[in-house]
Amino acid sequence: MAPLSLLLSVLSVLSTIAAEYVEYDTSSHIIPGMINVHLVPHTHDDVGWLKTVDQYYVGSNNSIQGASVQNVLDSVVQALLSDKNRKFIYVEQAFFQRWWNQQSDAMKSIVKELISSGQLEFINGGMCMHDEATTHYIDMIDQTTLGHRFIKKEFNKIPRIGWQIDPFGHSAVQAYLLSTEVGFDALYFFRIDYQDKQNRKNLKNLETVWRGSKTFGSSSDIFTGIFPNSYEPPTGFHFEVNDKDPIVQDDIDLFDYNVQERVNDFVETAMAQANITRTNHIMWTMGTDFMYQYANTWFRQMDKLIHYVKKDGRVNALYSTPSIYTDAKYAANESWPLKTGDFFPYADQTNAYWTGYFTSRPSIKGYVRSLSAYYLASRQLEFLMGRIHSGFGTDSLADALAIAQHHDAVTGTEKQHVANDYAKRLAIGYAKAEKLVGLALASLSESSSNKNCQKPTTKFEQCLLLNITYCPASEVSISDGKSKAILVYNSIGWKREEIIRIPVSSEHFVVTDSDGRKIETQLLPIDDTSLGLRSYYVQAYLKKSPTSTPKFWLAFSVSVPPLGFSTYFISAAEKKGTESTISKLHKYHGNIDNIEIGQGNLKLSYNGAGILNQYFNNRSLVKEPVEQSYSYYTGDDGLGRDPQADGAYIFRPNGSFPISYPGQMAIEVMKGPILDEVHQSINPWIYQITRVYKEKEYAEIEFVIGPIPVADEIGKEITTQITTTMVTNKTFYTDSNGRDFIKRIRDYRSDWNMEVNQPAAGNYYPINLGVYIEDERTELSILVDRSVGGSSLIDGQIELMLHRRLLFDDSRGVGEALNETVCVDDECSGLRIQGKFYFRIDPLGEGAKWRRSFGQEIYSPLLLAFSEQDGNSWEKTHLTTFSAINPSYNLPKNVAIITLQTLEKNSSVLFRLAHLYEVGEDKDLSVMAQVHLRMLFNDKNISTIREMNLSANQERSAMEKKRLVWKSEDSNAEKGSRGSPVDSSKLIVELAPMEIRTFIIEFDDTAIYCS
Ligand SMILES: [Zn+2]
Repeated sequence: MAPLSLLLSVLSVLSTIAAEYVEYDTSSHIIPGMINVHLVPHTHDDVGWLKTVDQYYVGSNNSIQGASVQNVLDSVVQALLSDKNRKFIYVEQAFFQRWWNQQSDAMKSIVKELISSGQLEFINGGMCMHDEATTHYIDMIDQTTLGHRFIKKEFNKIPRIGWQIDPFGHSAVQAYLLSTEVGFDALYFFRIDYQDKQNRKNLKNLETVWRGSKTFGSSSDIFTGIFPNSYEPPTGFHFEVNDKDPIVQDDIDLFDYNVQERVNDFVETAMAQANITRTNHIMWTMGTDFMYQYANTWFRQMDKLIHYVKKDGRVNALYSTPSIYTDAKYAANESWPLKTGDFFPYADQTNAYWTGYFTSRPSIKGYVRSLSAYYLASRQLEFLMGRIHSGFGTDSLADALAIAQHHDAVTGTEKQHVANDYAKRLAIGYAKAEKLVGLALASLSESSSNKNCQKPTTKFEQCLLLNITYCPASEVSISDGKSKAILVYNSIGWKREEIIRIPVSSEHFVVTDSDGRKIETQLLPIDDTSLGLRSYYVQAYLKKSPTSTPKFWLAFSVSVPPLGFSTYFISAAEKKGTESTISKLHKYHGNIDNIEIGQGNLKLSYNGAGILNQYFNNRSLVKEPVEQSYSYYTGDDGLGRDPQADGAYIFRPNGSFPISYPGQMAIEVMKGPILDEVHQSINPWIYQITRVYKEKEYAEIEFVIGPIPVADEIGKEITTQITTTMVTNKTFYTDSNGRDFIKRIRDYRSDWNMEVNQPAAGNYYPINLGVYIEDERTELSILVDRSVGGSSLIDGQIELMLHRRLLFDDSRGVGEALNETVCVDDECSGLRIQGKFYFRIDPLGEGAKWRRSFGQEIYSPLLLAFSEQDGNSWEKTHLTTFSAINPSYNLPKNVAIITLQTLEKNSSVLFRLAHLYEVGEDKDLSVMAQVHLRMLFNDKNISTIREMNLSANQERSAMEKKRLVWKSEDSNAEKGSRGSPVDSSKLIVELAPMEIRTFIIEFDDTAIYCS
């Protein structure tokens, strides 16, 4: 019998396995007086990192990482449809747009419904979650605008929340410009220094009001939430298919029933977080990288947790979003602790300062910066010509640049194949924009003879590889009767006088300006290092060898009107003696007499060993001993007691070594009427040219560094130092995303008592525009051509890190060593970097003029386009000079046009002006500026002008009405000044220091220029 009764009882258990249906109550809302746990379902989708953006989207290359954003979005929509209480946030528009374009109309209307009901909410809303250290503010604005305007157009929604959950430290510009001025109500992230975080936990200061701008004071305040641990769920609550955390097993008839344990875990975890958080609202970020590929695994567990936690009654759990959470924090009507400055540098452990990526992949950083300026200029030209729909334009470059701002793109922290993908996208975008620029310049220059707006016939060539001395258009020899026209475009609103340099093949020619006047020129023999770089990299990039070898750089001075161009002509010299001046060449070897260069106010002197030793300005009478040197750090291999290696993210040196000059340093000096150059082979893999232009008062240093030798199996990071005797008291200043300068003090943080573990890495800061030091008499400024890391590790000295080549992975996920190589055929060698930086010493209080106005000129170099012509008939058929603005007008030197872009409709234009100075920076230029739009848009009639928020997805006045104003514990309510609203009859825009104003302007007609 026994066997039978056993059998029966087994059957009875089995029969109850047809368990009953439980309807989970997921309708919880905020309950005042209880701890409210806001469950925020989210996915963090890197726009390229271990896989390319497209591989992540479609879910290919899964052997690297099992991730498909397509799956995420598909399954989230279904999961949301099955319970209207469920919510989800989505961030990266680059992915969302890829998905959206593939959906049926039926699916689109379903998704629109989810968005309009608030079940699906876009936050952050840019194309990517941009980095905050190595990005330029203009790029941050552009990529955010692209995403925000899409969301507005397609869904009529305006993102309310900044969600920078993964970037490696946080900038002041992100807080005030890309959050407050965008109209965000709050900003959330988690990566701050581990010491800072612990301190904030102790003080309940993880949530704070951040005042990112000195200039705008309390009007720049934004509520900022720092997650206590990471952007993942609390430990024990990860629910992707393969996650190991216990799910809620609530079927009493099945084994492992665990409802009470899981509820206890939930309550305990919530209470711990509540203990370090102000108010009774806490947020759980329910998701992480590429999660929700099978969304139900998450939602099923959250449904149950909300249901059973409610029954339990100790805390309250609800489906929420950062917007709901923010509103709850606001409703609490608290005063929050005040944070000023920024959150750099970021360290997650004692020896893990994330300051290496400030310099990682300097080639991508340089490429992004130069295309950023090209994008700005090409949109201007598209506007001036009128938008055309011919398959090329700026959209593709806009997309590529937007994606490149991602926190694993321009940062240099992606795998090599992904870096190649970004570069490919940029190259495709550039190629399309280049065609547009060529056509626009042809169209504008032919506009005098081309009244009927025929398709222009002039063909222009441009030279993206001028930095490696490659420009076929300028190198081609001029045969009899032919000449070359060089059109020089200036995208800045003020007139510029600069020296341009192009490679040429012979010396027998003359250069004339727009009026046919012969102008002074100088020829500088091209050095072997430049030629070597040129032939190797042209072969590597273009898969062909240059057909000829240029002999000289041809330098001459150009004068270019604002938002316009001038034309210069190179033609064969008619008789001997009329050609260019060839620079006087002096070669020195070993012990030499003192050398002095500089034909104008600035003189640089070199000592007997060929080392720079003095800076003297004849006009300002600044005379400073100054030395420039190179050194290198050796990268820690992570094989010691602390396994932290030096890598793509992290700067962890284990030694610093001067790069000594070889006993007999070869030094070549070229002197001429326009500029002097000092060429030095610092060692077999560092070559540098120091230039002093007669008419300029700064020194320009061009370097070629690499291949960094690693045969000793030690990774290295190459730095340069400018050393003075200035007494700088541990203090230096670095810019935030190319905008505000922030005071840095060595080994010191204003927010907590810092324990110094990494004296170099822990004092490195990102530099996008420049860095300066000052003492009682003078200030030394250095400006850069791309994002780099830098510091002042010794009083009186500034250091920049220019290149890094490392052999170990630093265990932050990328899984590769930062060891970049360039290959020709199958032979690869370490990457060589060509770049520039500029330095100048001014009397105290006079440096800002150069940093700001010249800084803008570095960002926006003159754009050169070349065309060949027969005879000298160009003037008859072309305008030789052009300016889009009234000839009697120049923009003031404290204002830049940072956006001038035709929108979908030809008569509608997105327009941004930026004041370039902070309050108190300069006695003449830190003042309210005025821009006369009638003069600027010469002969175009403005019919309406609307002032917008920074990302141009809402009117500024509406944004100001809506945006939450937070109370801080600081009672100082200084708001800083701003320009007054634009009177549409006067059309004058006022800009207060550091102000950026965004407008949408409608013009009456579009036919002023050919379109
Ligand atoms: Zn990320």
